[in-house]
Amino acid sequence: MVVLSFDSAPTAQSSDPYEWQTLSDSPFFLDRPEALGGSWSLLQDANNVRSHSSSKVAYYFPKGVGDYHFGERHPMKPARLTITNRLVLGYGLHKDMDVFTPRMASREELEWFHDEDYVEFLSSVTPSTPLSAAFTRFNFADDCPVFDGMYDFCRSYAGASLAAAKKLCSGTADIAINWSGGLHHAKKSEASGFCYVNDIVLAIMELLRYHPRVLYIDIDIHHGDGVQEAFYNSNRVLTVSFHKYGNDFFPCTGALSEVGTGLGKHFCLNVPLQDGIDDGAYVSLFKSIIEPCITTFRPESIVLQCGADSLGLDRLGCFNLSIAAHGECVRFVKSFGLPLLVLGGGGYTVRNVARCWSYETAVLTGRCIPDKLPSTEYDAFFGPNRRLHEPLQAGRVENQNPRVALEKIRIEVLDQLRYMHGAPSVQMHELPPDLSGAWLEEDNLTKPEG
Ligand SMILES: [Zn+2]
Repeated sequence: MVVLSFDSAPTAQSSDPYEWQTLSDSPFFLDRPEALGGSWSLLQDANNVRSHSSSKVAYYFPKGVGDYHFGERHPMKPARLTITNRLVLGYGLHKDMDVFTPRMASREELEWFHDEDYVEFLSSVTPSTPLSAAFTRFNFADDCPVFDGMYDFCRSYAGASLAAAKKLCSGTADIAINWSGGLHHAKKSEASGFCYVNDIVLAIMELLRYHPRVLYIDIDIHHGDGVQEAFYNSNRVLTVSFHKYGNDFFPCTGALSEVGTGLGKHFCLNVPLQDGIDDGAYVSLFKSIIEPCITTFRPESIVLQCGADSLGLDRLGCFNLSIAAHGECVRFVKSFGLPLLVLGGGGYTVRNVARCWSYETAVLTGRCIPDKLPSTEYDAFFGPNRRLHEPLQAGRVENQNPRVALEKIRIEVLDQLRYMHGAPSVQMHELPPDLSGAWLEEDNLTKPEG
């Protein structure tokens, strides 16, 4: 975590939470343009200050996961994972983590959540398969094309999320990271929004074998619909999604009124936002909602989906978040000290995705890293300055989130928590058996060079 302090404390600390209470000390918030220039000396100082983090971090990078191609014009670029990994290694962050090359998920594991006939189609279809009704039925179209190696790609990122969840359940790691996961739109029997297999649902199912209650937090700009739907009737998973909502923005779900059904009523929270939300408002809202979620629901573990399309200048997004603010949400969740599974998700301006997830890896390992990116074969990609915290203001979108509207959302969301009446009691003997007890032994612990 880059911990920097300003020469002077924030002035005029007002009682308005949007003014001062929840901003991080980082000078890289877009809301603090005065800090964006001339910060190199501060960075030098920060680099000499190593924060004390006793968290044991496990990092999962499936072999070859960045080598797949959805298609020339498709915005989802798995190469972003290779570049992220390269920056993580370049910063030397692997020295503070156990790095794993997980195996692919098995077909049986995919079928814990997905329907058999859907997995059968996913496993057998190729780019040369003639079109049939199944393509429509399973929603394989423009957003979700059939590409070479698609099934293995899905098994790779899902295997990593499952291995990471098992690691947390074993108690041998406090935090587990899989940037290739977080594909939150996939449904039980349908591909959606560039997602084919919902690794998040599979990982939460794994966590539920050992943890009576799991909190799912989603900061992708799109609603976490696939995860919400999977646990909509459950009081063992509280899903909380912060996203753009309205004007037919994909996937068009995630209204405040979606709160769960049956036993799961009030165990689903949605924070619908408008274009252009900025650092201060977003981080303030995030903290003021997540803290009571944790103290009220009392989860045994947390899954955090870190979609980077909520950053400013994203190719498909319309928010104004800086990498520092996005990372501040991660730091805040980490600060509760609960077993934490951190996943990727969306993110379509590739260089900023790589910057963001590298920075968040540093936040999670408790490391201070310099603003100057390490030299890699991707140097040209990051421009002449090669900065980690490149200001993302050039395409700044007008903020259409009036303070009063955000406050109304906050009050309505927190109202839902009041119905929860403390954490539900769960009988541990009702948990399903572990179907694959040999997972941890099968992990291939890898310590990359460099
Ligand atoms: Zn997204």
